[in-house]
Amino acid sequence: MSDTLILTPDYQPADFLPLSVVDWQTCIRLMFLDKIQPVHLYENRWISSPKLKLQLPSVAVTRDHFNFRKGRVRYSRHLMYVRDLFTCQYCGEIFTARELSIDHVIPKCEGGKTSWENCVSSCRDCNLRKGNKRWRPINAPFKPDYYALAARRLELPIQVGHESWLPYLQVGGKTAQRVQIRG
Ligand SMILES: [Zn+2]
Repeated sequence: MSDTLILTPDYQPADFLPLSVVDWQTCIRLMFLDKIQPVHLYENRWISSPKLKLQLPSVAVTRDHFNFRKGRVRYSRHLMYVRDLFTCQYCGEIFTARELSIDHVIPKCEGGKTSWENCVSSCRDCNLRKGNKRWRPINAPFKPDYYALAARRLELPIQVGHESWLPYLQVGGKTAQRVQIRG
């Protein structure tokens, strides 16, 4: 069944990392709790029971601003790959998450930390060849804020549930580049 994109009252996705999407059961529950309001409807997705029949929204907006953690992003392997656009920071090639690994610019054995500022995406070959040596990555690692990371996310392939999501997939003037609409 279909997912619903959840927007905040300013008509921005509630989250990009990952995209704020709920399944239809959650969507119906939030509608009954009066937490969200439909913005766009799926043309032919109806929820029906003996007591009700309603059209499932493809996009819905929340009534209240709830507290999203915009501005701060916690370090994670996946988000670091997003920051680096899945590009090995030594050879410059693009890889899948499976083919990438975390490289500590200052090696762990020299006290290098696992952090935004000391870690870059590296393919396994480069990581092996680098070992405990100090190599200069193509882009110096940095701690991104939510918006910088969301903008990077939009440069990567993104799967959307319905074409009505497209106008909302933007951050700071950047729009989604490589959209795939789930059939
Ligand atoms: Zn590499």
